[in-house]
Amino acid sequence: MTDYLVKALAYDGFVRAYAVNATETIAEAQRRHDTWNTASAALGRTMIGGLMLGATLKGEDKLTIKIDGNGPAGGIVVDSNGKGDVKGYIKNTHLSLPLNEIGKLDVRGAVGTEGMLTVIKDLGLKEPFSGQTPIVSGEIGEDFTYYLAVSEQIPSAVGVSVLVDTDDSIKTAGGFMIQIMPGAEDEVIDQIEERLKETTRISSLLDEGQTPEEILQRLLGTNDVEFLEKMPVQFKCDCSKEKFGAAIISLGPDEIQAMIDEDHGAEAVCTFCNNKYKYSEADLLELKREAMGEL
Ligand SMILES: [Zn+2]
Repeated sequence: MTDYLVKALAYDGFVRAYAVNATETIAEAQRRHDTWNTASAALGRTMIGGLMLGATLKGEDKLTIKIDGNGPAGGIVVDSNGKGDVKGYIKNTHLSLPLNEIGKLDVRGAVGTEGMLTVIKDLGLKEPFSGQTPIVSGEIGEDFTYYLAVSEQIPSAVGVSVLVDTDDSIKTAGGFMIQIMPGAEDEVIDQIEERLKETTRISSLLDEGQTPEEILQRLLGTNDVEFLEKMPVQFKCDCSKEKFGAAIISLGPDEIQAMIDEDHGAEAVCTFCNNKYKYSEADLLELKREAMGEL
């Protein structure tokens, strides 16, 4: 199990913390979408944030994150759940910007500095919960931090990072999320803030071979960390030929007949995972019969 997320408590339960190694997960997203380096970092960072926000949910509950900025990335959408599954896409996959002033991938340049971050949580209730905050940085980690502070009133620190190799493959990817519970001592907060300033990017720590557990102990500045759970995480899409078939049925019999007459078949492509589903004329005829209520 290379990709996993750990949940932990520290400082007598006043600090809740998460860390994740998502290298294989982000590598799969990169391969499926054929993203170039800046796009990989922007999508990967959002997916890592999605995994950690997802880890705060119960198993079947799920959430969607949308980042709509004014940069050339053109929009990022990520779905995750409480079981460690994540999927996502970025509109402009072939995006490779010059490195920024500190020699890192220019995620801010890709996302933009104006726009919105939206989180929609489906908690199995009648109405989904939805929260939205403006993009404050475009580097994504700080945007999640701001979202949590303002929309969910949880003082947090979120770090998400992706190390992309020269051939565009993903070298490492991971993140952390530290949340301060009400009543925490100021000195605890100060100490963690100091540690965060001193700590290099998570992707670099993972590249050095550090585990999520070791990274959390380092970030929190204490060995007194209680690890509550270790959960595998993975890229997973729930699409299927049947699901896209249902979407075709909803177009109605006339539209399906037009697909048969004009194209002699149909192909559906999943925007989240890039899987392709082909429908032959016979498949379409069957879907048409279903649309007409004959099956
Ligand atoms: Zn899919």
